[in-house]
This record gives sequence, C-alpha cells and structure tokens, in this order.
Amino acid sequence: MLIDGYGRRVNYLRVSLTERCNFRCQYCMPEKPFSWVPKENLLSFEELFLFIKVAIDEGVTKIRLTGGEPLLREDLDSFIKMISDYKPDIDLALTTNAYLLPQTAQRLKDAGLKRLNISLDSLKPEIAHNIAQKDVLGQVLKGIDKALDVGLGVKINMVPLKGMNDDEILDILHYCKERNIKVRFIEYMENSHANQSIEGMHGREILEKVKERYTIKALGREGASPSFNYYIEELKYEFGLIDPHKHDFCENCNRIRLTAEGNLIPCLYFDEAMSIAEAVKSGDIKGATDVLAQVLKDKPKENRWSDIDADSQDVSTRAFYETGG
Ligand code: SAM
Ligand code: SF4
Repeated sequence: MLIDGYGRRVNYLRVSLTERCNFRCQYCMPEKPFSWVPKENLLSFEELFLFIKVAIDEGVTKIRLTGGEPLLREDLDSFIKMISDYKPDIDLALTTNAYLLPQTAQRLKDAGLKRLNISLDSLKPEIAHNIAQKDVLGQVLKGIDKALDVGLGVKINMVPLKGMNDDEILDILHYCKERNIKVRFIEYMENSHANQSIEGMHGREILEKVKERYTIKALGREGASPSFNYYIEELKYEFGLIDPHKHDFCENCNRIRLTAEGNLIPCLYFDEAMSIAEAVKSGDIKGATDVLAQVLKDKPKENRWSDIDADSQDVSTRAFYETGG
C-alpha cells in the first residue's frame, strides 16, 4: 500500500502520454503555434508499462491516461490492452478533448478502456472556437456521441471563464442531464502558460449560476475524488464541482502524476519531480520502486491555489499540457 508523508493513501496514477495537442486552449497552451511539436524524449509504451506494473503491484488501483491530447499517441489501444491484460479489474480511464474519438472510441473500448472524461467548454461553435483556437465543436459532439454509442462511461469537464462561457453553465448541465452523464465544473487554475487575461469563475460563482434556476443540495466529496458533488432536486441530477482554491481540497488527495518523459510529480501545483526514466530504460524495477517511495515521501500537504488573490503574480509554473491536469 502506498502511503504519503501525511498519511494519505495514494492509489491513483495519472499518466501523461504526450505534451502535443491538436487544440490550443486559452487556459492551457494558448501561445504555442499549431505547428509546435515539443522536443519530447518520450518513454516508449514498454517503458511506461514497466513503471505502471510497479505502481499496480504497490497498490495503485486507478489509472488515467491524459496529456496533451492522449489520442495523438499512435497505437494507444495496444498500450491500453497491455495494462488491462495485466490487471483486468483496474479502473482505467482517459481524459480527452474528444476530437479524434469518432474514429477511435470503438478500438479504445475493445482494448479495455472503461471510462472517459471529455472536455466540453461550450455548445456555441464560435465560443468553442475562441477557447480552443480552432473550429472544434462539431467534431467534439460527434466524439461524445460515439463514445456513448460504444458503451464507454463518459463524464464531461467544463472550465467556466468570465465573459467567455460563463453564460453556458446551465446549457452544458442540461446537455449532460439529457444524456444521463455527469458534468464537473472545474475552477480555472491560474498558471503562467495560460492566457493571462482570462479570468476563471470561483466555485461559489458557478454554484450561484445554478442556484438562479434550481435548488441544490450539497452531497460532499466522494471518497478521495477532487469533485464536490451537488444534487439538483428539480432535475433529480447530480453534478460535481472541482474547486482546488478551497482549503480542504487536498485533504484526501490520492494522486501522483507521471509525465510522458518519465518525471514523477507529487502535486499538480509545484515544479518538484523525480525521474523514473533511467530506471525503466534499464529495466531496474527496484530503482523505479525507490523513486516512487521518495516521491510519496515528498508529496506536499496542499497546493497554493487557495492563496492566490486577483493581483497575485505568484502563479504555478507547471504546464497543464505537461502534467495532464
Ligand atoms: N487534452 C485533454 C483534455 O483537454 O481533456 C487532456 C489533457 S487536459 C490538460 C486535462 C484537463 O485539464 C481538461 O479537462 C482541461 O479542461 C483541464 N485544464 C487544463 N488547463 C486548465 C486550467 N488552467 N485550469 C483548470 N483546468 C484546466
Ligand atoms: Fe489540449 Fe487539453 Fe490543453 Fe486544451 S486542455 S490545449 S485540449 S491539452
């Protein structure tokens, strides 16, 4: 069992498969030209798999593949099958912008993927275009339909931004309710790679928008999930709010993150990391296990988003496209 220095049980590994992306979201990597190809020293699927086996053997029960855009990585289905064959009951999920799902969803499902988190920030083509800096909405909606058709579990992530999509909170909620899927509203997390002129909505502002129409009941956090759940009486519908600015957000954190180059990151906010690349390249299982133990020991108590005020220059320098969110 993996226990960190604050007694928290860590059983969730998020693996970023690439920094590349086919979108340029305002809150993530707005300034990279579409022609940008990161100089990645990617670990191969075999190398990543060696570490994943170590993590599973040590007590990880949930794995999420992310990025950048993970669907850009070739032969992803064979990697999913490697993990799923090793531990068929692993909770194996993937976070995607859905653009490539129409042509990949069936193969992902057949390979053993169970669930998808899909980013959907707007149902208006021009707003979606403005956020992703590309005309994406039609293809994203097709991707969501395809994922549901093939029987993958789907949750939707929306990052509400002031003056951009803040008037669509209820529209997205209704879209999800109609499809019987859960939406989680994510507070924008300030970071130095984002467009510095965007302003996110605070959790309580997001809730106010829902309360303008509905009565909501707070249900609480579900285990170690970062999402705080609410229930809408009138719709008989549950949605989530991911609110890292709230002081108790980190209390039950069960996550560590691995980048595509093999850096193991104890916390999304901070720059600290330790590399497992050398160990997995030489098949050194003990070395990889030792790095994992050290990263757990170094896991900080909490992030610093709750300290951020409107004028603060002190933002996280971690790139979401590197850590996978
Ligand atoms: N490309 C995939 C996608 O967009 O779903 C996976 C990677 S993306 C980095 C993972 C999640 O991080 C997405 O739900 C995205 O909305 C979220 N994200 C990225 N930057 C963020 C930020 N600054 N604040 C809050 N969420 C962010
Ligand atoms: Fe790409 Fe996801 Fe970042 Fe948007 S949030 S730029 S889709 S990695």
